[in-house]
Amino acid sequence: VDKKCPWKPTLNQTVPSPHTKQDWKQKYPKGVFPDVLSMIGNTPLVKLNSIPQKAGLECNIYAKCEFVNPGGSIKDRMVRRMFEDAENQGLIKPGMTIIEPSSGNTGIAVALVSALKGYKCIIVMSEKISEEKEAVITSLGAKVVRCPVNQSSFDKGGLFGTASRLKQETPNSFIFDQFNHPGNPLTHYDTTANEILEQLDNKVDMLVFGGGTGGTVTGMGRKFREVSPQTKIVGFDPEGSSFAYPASLNKSDVTFWEIEGIGYEFVPGTLDQLVCDYWVKTNDVESLQMGRRLMKEEGLLVGMSAGSAVSAAIKAAKDLKKGQNVVVFMPDSIRNYMTKFVSDRWMEAKGYQPCENKNNLWWWDKLVSSIKLRS
Ligand code: PMP
Repeated sequence: VDKKCPWKPTLNQTVPSPHTKQDWKQKYPKGVFPDVLSMIGNTPLVKLNSIPQKAGLECNIYAKCEFVNPGGSIKDRMVRRMFEDAENQGLIKPGMTIIEPSSGNTGIAVALVSALKGYKCIIVMSEKISEEKEAVITSLGAKVVRCPVNQSSFDKGGLFGTASRLKQETPNSFIFDQFNHPGNPLTHYDTTANEILEQLDNKVDMLVFGGGTGGTVTGMGRKFREVSPQTKIVGFDPEGSSFAYPASLNKSDVTFWEIEGIGYEFVPGTLDQLVCDYWVKTNDVESLQMGRRLMKEEGLLVGMSAGSAVSAAIKAAKDLKKGQNVVVFMPDSIRNYMTKFVSDRWMEAKGYQPCENKNNLWWWDKLVSSIKLRS
């Protein structure tokens, strides 16, 4: 794999972000914030104390808790950045309508920032995306337009086709286009990567992350290649998606996956596949079961893609030694999936085991049989 990883032409540097860790510490030493947007970023890292150990791993796995951002996901970071870049460049001003294609979390963040800054907002997303995300977006005062699940993204009725139709129909409207926007990877290059390096005293042996736009992979990967070249960078991608490199890894009969927010049938402009040392493929079963285990065994109330991340990390980190550090992302939380993989009924209806060790609930079996005996 090419170690130089040049930026794609669309990813030229724009204005540097004013939101650095140092700024934050100096400005809000007591954690009292002047507004919600100032709360974005500077998220905690937490060590996983059960799942990696049960898998026989010697190294540490740390989870970057992006779900504590005010909109509930990692996407708050780059949405604030895209608004700031566009406002600084005079491209948008309050009163305009922001339209954005999204798998939901960017939609929530755009709706949140629009509400605070006085923009109207329309989010375009696939029918696959959870009702919970739509409810959050509409409660923030934005509109949601859905497109069919199996429609190709670039078709007339697909994600981008619908967004550009809405732009033509809506006067005074603007699309950031997170899939090609330089501020998306750059926000992770400027802030997220520095936070992690500072949190772990520059000792990061492996990073494992997935891509939706590729902003996290590209921005983080690029910064680590520059300042911590010894860090192994591993990308994961759902079966059925086209993000993994080399492309032969993506050969599959799968055309639909449940995990929201990661993978597409195309490679976005913001994804630099070559920034990863290698890619692994993940599937729904391992991701959903690991997501449920993260809740039950680690107390981390996270979303689906966090399950994929830990499942991929356990495979990737098996040869790391004691004291070495792996970082994975928890991009969003349980809130977005209450009627999906958080529900036993949904898991059973889809044919998944709700929890790997459901059969080990000995006390439950005992209780049920004692009730049966008594009646
Ligand atoms: N997980 C979830 C749940 C997401 O919503 C996203 C963003 N689509 C990602 C992971 C991946 O983030 P990125 O867009 O930076 O690739």
